[in-house]
Amino acid sequence: MTPITAFIALGSNLNDPEQQVRNGLRELAALPETRLVSASSLYRSAPVGYREQPDFVNAVARIETSLQPRALLDHLLAIERRRGRVREFPNAPRTLDLDIVLYGDLVLHEPGLTIPHPRMHERAFVIVPLAEIAPEVTIPSRGSVRELMGSCDAASIVKLAGVRT
Ligand code: ADP
Ligand code: MG
Repeated sequence: MTPITAFIALGSNLNDPEQQVRNGLRELAALPETRLVSASSLYRSAPVGYREQPDFVNAVARIETSLQPRALLDHLLAIERRRGRVREFPNAPRTLDLDIVLYGDLVLHEPGLTIPHPRMHERAFVIVPLAEIAPEVTIPSRGSVRELMGSCDAASIVKLAGVRT
């Protein structure tokens, strides 16, 4: 099978978030049938939803993978578990969150897996890092990353350091 280009959003706000995101990138690079092509800088963002929690560190990675979407999700959830993630309540603080933002131009609505990620197009902490590494990308039925940059709250996130991949 020809590898598919996919984008993974990483986020953490517990237990040294910068290191968590860097470890997450390292784990993505080690996935079977997968190549880590590039990663955005790290960004700091304020929590959405439940606000009484630490700021997040976010990044987006570009991978090429021959894993099917469901297999990719299962690997991501396994990485989250290895990194000690506990699901307490929606939008709770987390050691590491890994979401499939895009998988080629696939549109998928299954129990437990929606691609493109249903809320990504309005989240600055996904759109801004995505625009950094893939300004050419279009999100099915949402528009180009460039357009989405114009409608998200880009000022709400702050660039930290670049990541070497
Ligand atoms: P969120 O990332 O929305 O804050 P969670 O990380 O707790 O929430 O994810 C809850 C569930 O979302 C996962 O168990 C997974 O089955 C489901 N899910 C649906 N679509 C996706 C996707 N595109 N990427 C990652 N998880 C997804
Ligand atoms: Mg998630």
